[in-house]
Amino acid sequence: MTGAAVKLENVSFGYDETRVLFNVEIQAGTIAAVMGPSGAGKTTLLNLIAGFERPESGSVWIGNSDVTGIGPADRPVSMVFQENNLFAHLTVEQNVGLGRSPSLRLTDADRIAIRGALARTGLEGKEARLPSELSGGERQRVALARALVRNRPVLLLDEPFASLGPALREDMLELLIDLHREQNMTVLMVTHQPDDARKIAQSMIFVEEGKVAATGNANLFFGPDAPQAFRRYIGV
Ligand code: ADP
Repeated sequence: MTGAAVKLENVSFGYDETRVLFNVEIQAGTIAAVMGPSGAGKTTLLNLIAGFERPESGSVWIGNSDVTGIGPADRPVSMVFQENNLFAHLTVEQNVGLGRSPSLRLTDADRIAIRGALARTGLEGKEARLPSELSGGERQRVALARALVRNRPVLLLDEPFASLGPALREDMLELLIDLHREQNMTVLMVTHQPDDARKIAQSMIFVEEGKVAATGNANLFFGPDAPQAFRRYIGV
């Protein structure tokens, strides 16, 4: 599998008082960090790509396909949220299995993929546990494993490691970097941590007041010539 480019063209959308208008392109197979103030529209951007929200006008492209009219289940995308990712009454194995089949009618190939993803995320031996019997870091690993078994070219992560301590967050970032090296999917990760972005991202998307206020190479963003709006945000 390889990643697919993601493009939003004049995508407008609004909640009651909030309007967003997105124009942005993410190259296939890159890791992009999405940063910006709280309420700027970062989650909305991900939801528009995943199909959980539909644009009022404009179009969303994934690879060579216009997916604007396509529902979330049929988009080549998987998404990991900050929390409340897992079903409390289902085991680790079943939660991961949902990535393959919402009804958990699993084929042999599904079971092999699930076993592989559990091994890859360090969850071997924990298949039969319930989410309440796991640590916060383990729960996020399950969420990541569920995204992996979907084997989609675009992976969206909305502050996936925000509730974890620094050491655990570091481990998860390393895991994400390794997985990206193996699968080369296109990754968009929302984070409030400049260090996390610096560590994993090749490109940056800075969102402010419902727009992509700046975008470009991560080296540029963390160097002396960083865009003004981003410098203001991180306080340099
Ligand atoms: P961020 O992820 O950058 O913190 P969001 O994309 O979650 O920002 O939200 C952008 C704006 O849209 C915020 O002002 C937020 O209050 C508003 N918003 C988000 N979701 C909803 C919703 N379901 N209904 C109404 N307003 C919403």
